[in-house]
Amino acid sequence: MSELNLILLGPPGAGKGTQAERLQEDFPLLYLATGNILRAAVAEETELGRKAKEYMSRGELVPDDVIIGVILDQLRDEEASDGFLLDGFPRTVGQAEALDEALQDFGRTLTAVLLIDTPDDEVVRRISGRRVSVKTGRVYHVDFDPPKHEGVCDVDGSRLIQREDDSEETVRKRLAVYHEQTAPLIGFYEKQGLLKRFDGRRPPNEVHDHIRATLATLRLEEQI
Ligand code: ADP
Ligand code: ADP
Repeated sequence: MSELNLILLGPPGAGKGTQAERLQEDFPLLYLATGNILRAAVAEETELGRKAKEYMSRGELVPDDVIIGVILDQLRDEEASDGFLLDGFPRTVGQAEALDEALQDFGRTLTAVLLIDTPDDEVVRRISGRRVSVKTGRVYHVDFDPPKHEGVCDVDGSRLIQREDDSEETVRKRLAVYHEQTAPLIGFYEKQGLLKRFDGRRPPNEVHDHIRATLATLRLEEQI
């Protein structure tokens, strides 16, 4: 099959990062998670980090002109030529339009947009229990996916923290932003025939199995 060019769409805490980790084990995809890229920029105090920091801590989106160039530069890169997995981008119609234009320029197309549909009350439960390794970025949940030893990463024993923007108040704000600015992308990609929906309330392995089955069907359809 030609390359897999995928977008993971869904509210904060839907399980996009969790599924991305599994999908990268299945396929050689360049994984670009804008939240991770921006948090690294904030930690390194780069120009990008300086521009993004305040928006992120308020639970607002960073402006389109700050993020679009960063992602398109990486997609242009040789590393993205076997396929990519975008997590957290696009998050506005403006970003989606910029991505469409750029892909057209590169002579590439999207394979599918994977929507992990998860209701707001579940999102709040997930995000308030989310813990992240300071070093590996591996994500846990205090109840749904606890580490073997409390507060430390299974992979390398690094410390687990709660993200500053994972407080309940900021999560509510992020959800409002999602419904207002990101949810319109569902219709945007539905119109292009690219949207595939998954029930994000299911356990991680089930969601993963459903995604894999969908991608397998897409491959078969392409061969016919
Ligand atoms: P989540 O776990 O909510 O899906 P992310 O880690 O993807 O969160 O994003 C964290 C924050 O980074 C967002 O609340 C927003 O401030 C910023 N951000 C990430 N991706 C984008 C984007 N594509 N456009 C604008 N802001 C973004
Ligand atoms: P996102 O990248 O969409 O913000 P994450 O993958 O970080 O979401 O997941 C948010 C939290 O919910 C994490 O603590 C994760 O362990 C947990 N989680 C992810 N998927 C599921 C699921 N299907 N069922 C229960 N908890 C989940």
